[in-house]
Amino acid sequence: MSSDHRIYSYSAVLMGSPILLKLYSHNEALAAQVFRLIKQYEDLLTVNRTPSQVMEINHAAGRHPVTVSRPVFELIRCAKAASLVPGSAFNLAIGPLVKRWKIGFKGDSVPPAQELAALLALTSPAEVCLDEEAGSVFLTRPGMEIDLGAIAKGYIADRVRDYLRKAGETAGLINLGGNVQTLGSPEGGWTVGLKKPFSEGQALVGALVVSDKSVVTSGTYERYFERDGKCYHHILDPRTGYPLDNELDSVTVISTDSLDGDIWTTLLYGMGVAKGCAALRARPDIEAIFVTRSQEVILSSARHFRFTLLDNTFRLTDNTV
Ligand code: ADP
Ligand code: MG
Repeated sequence: MSSDHRIYSYSAVLMGSPILLKLYSHNEALAAQVFRLIKQYEDLLTVNRTPSQVMEINHAAGRHPVTVSRPVFELIRCAKAASLVPGSAFNLAIGPLVKRWKIGFKGDSVPPAQELAALLALTSPAEVCLDEEAGSVFLTRPGMEIDLGAIAKGYIADRVRDYLRKAGETAGLINLGGNVQTLGSPEGGWTVGLKKPFSEGQALVGALVVSDKSVVTSGTYERYFERDGKCYHHILDPRTGYPLDNELDSVTVISTDSLDGDIWTTLLYGMGVAKGCAALRARPDIEAIFVTRSQEVILSSARHFRFTLLDNTFRLTDNTV
C-alpha cells in the first residue's frame, strides 16, 4: 500500500494481470473484499480454466443446455445482442477460432484457409440459444464455444464500481489491465494514461481526465505474433476468421459502463476510424480515441473527458463539434 495525498493504492495479480485499486479511504478490508469479488466473477466467466460456468456451456455444445447463474446469463444475453447487430465485428461465439489461432500463447500458428472456413461455420451467434425461463444456454452444434474474453473484464469492472458505491465510497478507481472504471471525482477527476502502442514499459501517447467514467483500451500490440514478416494480433474478424486488418494500433472507449466500452472497442476495430466516428455521432454516450499506425490520435468527440497529448511524434485530430 502507498499513498499520495488522500488516495490509497492496493494491488493484486488476478486474471493473469496486475490489478490496481485506488480508494479515497485507507481500508485494507474493503480492498480485500474487492479482490475477492473479482476472483469470484473470474471463476464464473473464464474459458481458460475448469470449472467455470462458461466452460460447462462449451463442453455441453451440441448435447444439452446448461443452467447458469443470473449474472452469467445476463452477460451472455448482452453479448449475443451485440453479436447480432448487422455487420458487427463482435461475436461471442468466436471461441473455436480463438482456440485455433492461440494468438499470444505457446503453439500459435497461421491456420490453413480451409480449416478457418470450417471453424467459421461453428461461430454463428444465432446458434447460441438462450432460455429465459430456465436461465440456460445451449450451443446447438458440437464444437461451438463462447468466449467472453473481450467483455469479462468490463463486466467485472462495473461490478466493482457498483460494490464500492454501495459500500459508501465516494471515489475509487479499478484498473483491470486495459479496463479502467472510475467512481467520483477526486481533485477534479481521475487521470488515466493512454499507452503508446508497441512501446516498452510505460510510455504514454497522452492522458485523459475522467469522472464516473470507464476508459477501455484495446490494442493490436497487446497480444500478437509475427510470422513471415506479418503481424497477427488477437482481435479476430468474425467475417473472415483472420485478425482484423486496418489502420489502427489501438482504440480507447470512454463510456459510463465498462461493458459498453469493451463491446465498442471491438465494434470500432471492425469499423475503422471513418465509419467508427460516423457511427458514434448517433451515440453521444460513447466516445473514442483512435491511435493509428501512422501515429495519428483521433478523438471522435470529447464531451466526457479531457485529453492531453504527451508525445509530440503523434498528431492530434479532434473531431469535437
Ligand atoms: P484484452 O483486453 O485482453 O487485450 P480485448 O478486450 O481486446 O482483450 O479482447 C480480445 C479477446 O477477445 C481475445 O483474446 C479473444 O478472446 C476475444 N475475441 C477476439 N476476437 C473477438 C471478436 N471478434 N469478438 C468477440 N471476442 C473476440
Ligand atoms: Mg476488452
